[in-house]
Amino acid sequence: MIVNCPVCSSDNGSYYIATKALMHKANQERYIFNKCSSCHTVFLTNPVKEEVLDTYYTDNYLPYKGAAAWGKYSSFVARSQQTLDFKRVQLVARYLKSKKVFTILDVGCGNPSFLNLALQKLNAEGTGIDFSDNGWKNSSFDKLRLIKTSIANFKPSCSFDVITLWHYLEHDYNLQETVNKLYDCLNTGGKLIIEVPDYNSISARKQKQYWQGWHSPRHMTLFSEKSFHVLFKSDKWKIIDHHKYGTLDAFTLWWLGRMEQQQINWSDSMESKFWPLVFLKTVSFPFFLFEKFLPLGIQLVVIEKK
Ligand SMILES: [Zn+2]
Repeated sequence: MIVNCPVCSSDNGSYYIATKALMHKANQERYIFNKCSSCHTVFLTNPVKEEVLDTYYTDNYLPYKGAAAWGKYSSFVARSQQTLDFKRVQLVARYLKSKKVFTILDVGCGNPSFLNLALQKLNAEGTGIDFSDNGWKNSSFDKLRLIKTSIANFKPSCSFDVITLWHYLEHDYNLQETVNKLYDCLNTGGKLIIEVPDYNSISARKQKQYWQGWHSPRHMTLFSEKSFHVLFKSDKWKIIDHHKYGTLDAFTLWWLGRMEQQQINWSDSMESKFWPLVFLKTVSFPFFLFEKFLPLGIQLVVIEKK
């Protein structure tokens, strides 16, 4: 059992929430999260061993099935993935200093569609790493460098101008080592772009143990604002922006929590969920318009290497 906070190492934590395995077939396991009283990080106290994590990333895992899970509506869902990639590329462009060619590393790239778009739109030299090659082994991404490795074992052949971590850091088992490795992989003045769930949000408070930000047992750490200041020390890093929204649609996170609450079978086709989802999205649209002003479940942090 983990008692020390993975961010500040304090052992002064107390029980915060218990959840079942999420986005997974029902089982008896319970996952206990504690909250650190020093830095307010929330962390999983009884993670599964890294060797058995595969059990939670089966071929039926919804993000792996992607658009295909939606049957005859798959093209609509594929288009929303393209919109997400486009938002991410635009965001990276905003933080780039004028540079003709730049190098980008995407940690936990999965299907590297974001990197591919960055290459087309921004003249980027893209490298993607992931512990699994499921995301690219059946496709051809000739101009990208894609490596099946953990961040700990990654041996970069160059240093990078930008490193993106779209929903990666909350999965990491060795945060301190990872932050050191990211530092070594970045050029001075290079940017880290980190998107993670925000437990201190309206969707987390409303959906409690069903909130998909817990994603048990895949998520190890849920970050507070202070977590980032502790993890990215000011002698080496500068936090440029901390937004309480991200590129991933807050509605999507909320909808996934709602499906968890309804105990759907995550292995089934999502086809029958399509029109109810469109209806919900339409009626809740006015509320999600405030995404940039209310903490709805996603946070995005941009950090510069000094
Ligand atoms: Zn702490």
